[in-house]
Amino acid sequence: MKLRIRARLALTFTAILLVVIATLEIGGYVAVRAAVLNVVDRELNTRLGGVEDHIARHVARLGWPKTAGDLAVHPAFQPSLLVIRSGNGDVLMEGSAMAGLPTTVAEGFVTVDGRTDSLRLLSVRHTIHGEVYSLVLGTDLQVQSGLLHYLWLLMLLSMPLVLAMSAGAAYWMSGRALAPIQEMISAARSIDSQRLSQRVPVPHTGDEVQQLAETFNGMLERIEMGFQKMRDFIANASHELRTPVSIVRAAAEIALLHPRPTEASYREALERVLRESERNTLLLENMLELARADSGTDTAQCDWISLNHSLEETCGQVLPLAASKNISLHVNSSGAEPEILADHDQLRRLWLILLDNAIKYTSAGGTVKAAVYMDSQGRAIGEILDTGIGLTKEQAAFIFERFYRADKSRSRAMGGTGLGLSIAREIASIHEADIQVRSNPNVGSRFIVSFPSSRSRPVAHSANADPADRQVVLR
Ligand code: ADP
Repeated sequence: MKLRIRARLALTFTAILLVVIATLEIGGYVAVRAAVLNVVDRELNTRLGGVEDHIARHVARLGWPKTAGDLAVHPAFQPSLLVIRSGNGDVLMEGSAMAGLPTTVAEGFVTVDGRTDSLRLLSVRHTIHGEVYSLVLGTDLQVQSGLLHYLWLLMLLSMPLVLAMSAGAAYWMSGRALAPIQEMISAARSIDSQRLSQRVPVPHTGDEVQQLAETFNGMLERIEMGFQKMRDFIANASHELRTPVSIVRAAAEIALLHPRPTEASYREALERVLRESERNTLLLENMLELARADSGTDTAQCDWISLNHSLEETCGQVLPLAASKNISLHVNSSGAEPEILADHDQLRRLWLILLDNAIKYTSAGGTVKAAVYMDSQGRAIGEILDTGIGLTKEQAAFIFERFYRADKSRSRAMGGTGLGLSIAREIASIHEADIQVRSNPNVGSRFIVSFPSSRSRPVAHSANADPADRQVVLR
């Protein structure tokens, strides 16, 4: 069974506390016991001084037996807890409480088991007036043992109580600390695709829990934006797909309703059907391309390729289109022949979109130019310029959005899908390139694609590199 965080925290805290309290209590008990014995020992030392003093003062004058009798009645010497032996081990005096103790007690302080309780003994050998005496003084440890026993019991009994109280407090505190997370869990459970605008509550605690809630809300915001984009895309796509289908249907219905159908009327209807099917095919292909880019399955097979060649090749491809509109097409290499790390086919697709738009939105007699150069930061730049209808600042801000068209009917009439520049931006982003537009209404537009210096390299000027404008001509 997995314990909840709250219980785990309380248990861990209690286990640590148990170790700490046990260590402190054992240490405390040992220290108190040592202090008590220290007091007892000092008292024994004081008594010893009195006994020695008495023996020294009286034994020469009265002789031993009298001195012993004197000692035996002296309450300050506690005679029942006193043993005096002569140098050769004869017992000169033995207190009643000391009977049965071992005859040889190591010199210094020692604790031994007495008849009823423990005894603390102080044993010394002393020479008085040329005679050697062995003195053993004892103290009954009954009171001290009782106190220490009481202390030990108190510690033992208080430990579970303290532990239970601390475990309870830890459980309560961790519960309080985790309460915002519990709230987040409940809030997160109620969020689904229909309620993506909902957010989890953010506790203003300034700690990791607040950070977690804010991060979670940030993630929800991004998901909501992604969902919104997807919804917009689906709505726009269905709208775009519906128009050609409606046109096809209308063309067929009109042709069938014709009272006296002629070959020309059928042909006209079929041509419309064909045109709209082609539009739909193009639209679906573009949508598929964007879907692939979104899913990240669109990988680029990059190689070092010449930017000039790539642009010139694509210009050659759109030349018939430009010629049909009487638009002159130029390539300006400014002498530079940079190479870029790019996918050949995707790069051509990017130029094709930009060149196709430039031709599409430029009136007959206009000019479209493609230019290649390297900037001061070592970036290879490809530009497509036209003298077309241009864009206002507001329009220019949206042209890379999917299905955006500055002039819907014009774009449709030109066979546009509103997805070309979105695809161009995806291709640029796969190549870590930046795509920008500078445009003026009725003057023209300039689309600038700059590749990062890490993907660009200059190639030495070739002998026949031509820095001048070259018009692309049909061969
Ligand atoms: P479309 O298929 O409509 O051309 P794009 O995504 O390629 O779709 O372009 C989006 C819109 O940007 C176009 O509808 C047009 O309004 C504007 N646009 C793109 N290129 C140019 C250009 N060279 N000159 C003026 N407007 C342009």
